[in-house]
Amino acid sequence: MLVKPATRQKSETRQDVSEAAAAAATGKSHGVRVAEFPATKDAHRNFLLRSIPDEEYAQLRPHLEQLEYESLDLLVEAGETYRYVYFPETSVVSVVRRMRDGALIEAGTVGREGMAGLGALLGSAWSQSTLTMQVPGLCVRIPFDVAVERFQELPTLRSLLQRFTLSFIDQVGQAVACNGRHSLVRRCARWLLSAHDRTDSDTFVLTHDVLAQMLAVRRAGVTEAAGALKAKGLIKYSRGRIVVKDRAGLEEAACECYAINRENIARLMGGDSIFHATSHAVV
Ligand SMILES: [Zn+2]
Repeated sequence: MLVKPATRQKSETRQDVSEAAAAAATGKSHGVRVAEFPATKDAHRNFLLRSIPDEEYAQLRPHLEQLEYESLDLLVEAGETYRYVYFPETSVVSVVRRMRDGALIEAGTVGREGMAGLGALLGSAWSQSTLTMQVPGLCVRIPFDVAVERFQELPTLRSLLQRFTLSFIDQVGQAVACNGRHSLVRRCARWLLSAHDRTDSDTFVLTHDVLAQMLAVRRAGVTEAAGALKAKGLIKYSRGRIVVKDRAGLEEAACECYAINRENIARLMGGDSIFHATSHAVV
């Protein structure tokens, strides 16, 4: 089944950022806004940025900026070109396909383990997918043209990005199998665990509307699935906030695809330290 996007999405533009900066001064929220940059390379949560050598980081740093995003902020629309590439810090980016009737179906997600905008590695700015911010939070970005140049010059970053590209392709393949085979409750548990891995807290923002888009079902189906997990005492939720109460129980409730994806990322990227410190690793 398909689901219509429930919320009008905000497009990211330079004007948005300047408006947001002005709004921040007046205490009003306008979505995307500039956030304080990490003091050191090691202070990044993004695995790629904190894993590259100091000399490679120094070449990127003048071009990096950190912003704070809200749920459903639009990063790039399908059929348009990237202006930036994105390194999620505490946020999660969703890569979705927009159908002709306007429905959005998730193809994959990118969190702190990787980068959104892999076309920069291959020299193509064209996006076949729509990218939205699903779990709100911090994200570092760099202009696309700068990224294309620097990725050719920075061997460690390029190697990590190649490995991440492979893990992302594997993630999309697993999602195809998962959507065709596994129950909604188990898929819901899988997605919640994946989001939990990429945040710094046991509580994160994720509305039923967003989760419905992620799982390609109608909102009523998500309410039922999340209700089943809540009834088992594994999660709590209210007003768009999810609280993971029993991480181990949620792992038992999830389909095999969660562990497969996590093991694959850890194997390809070189460790399980990418994820939430309190996660009960299955690798
Ligand atoms: Zn599955």
